[in-house]
Amino acid sequence: MEELDYEELLEECGALSNGHFRLSSGRHSDRYLQCQKAFQYPARAEGLGQGVADLFADEHIDVVIGPAMGAVALAMETGRAVAKRNPEVRVFFAERDGGRFTLRRGMDLWEGARILVVEDVITTGGSVFEVLYLVESAKAVPIGVGCVVLRGRANFGATPTRSLLQLDLPTYSGDNCPMCKDGTPLVRVGQKRPQR
Ligand SMILES: [Zn+2]
Repeated sequence: MEELDYEELLEECGALSNGHFRLSSGRHSDRYLQCQKAFQYPARAEGLGQGVADLFADEHIDVVIGPAMGAVALAMETGRAVAKRNPEVRVFFAERDGGRFTLRRGMDLWEGARILVVEDVITTGGSVFEVLYLVESAKAVPIGVGCVVLRGRANFGATPTRSLLQLDLPTYSGDNCPMCKDGTPLVRVGQKRPQR
């Protein structure tokens, strides 16, 4: 199988851009990741889903679950790829209800079901921890956590984490920023949202 260069894939559609950015945190960075931009293109989304499914090619998977909204498209594309080997695979998404992630709309887990949890970008892994809690509460079996980009050093205990890409995106305070010193124009990006 041809190896996709995922960093290039994210760059060519603007999901990963280089420059001088002011993040919503106020810190500066020379790279900005907005993974959802890649999912605007079904052909690229399909490639990313296939890639995440391939990370767990040796596993039987009953359900792929992603936390909404960020991982809904990834879950569907990953599920579509898994369906080539298990036509009965299902795709769920967990959504916030009263602040907590829950499964609604007839998406019911069952004891012993083998679950792949997917997320577009994992930084602290907060949403993934919540979904894993749902899985374990239902006595289902989390076989892995798959993501497009792993940024932090998230550790989900016995559940293996695999990513298409590992990116360290260093940030700087405004008065200690090499791009500011170079005089590169600053672009404001991002919106306030909870850390994931
Ligand atoms: Zn700067």
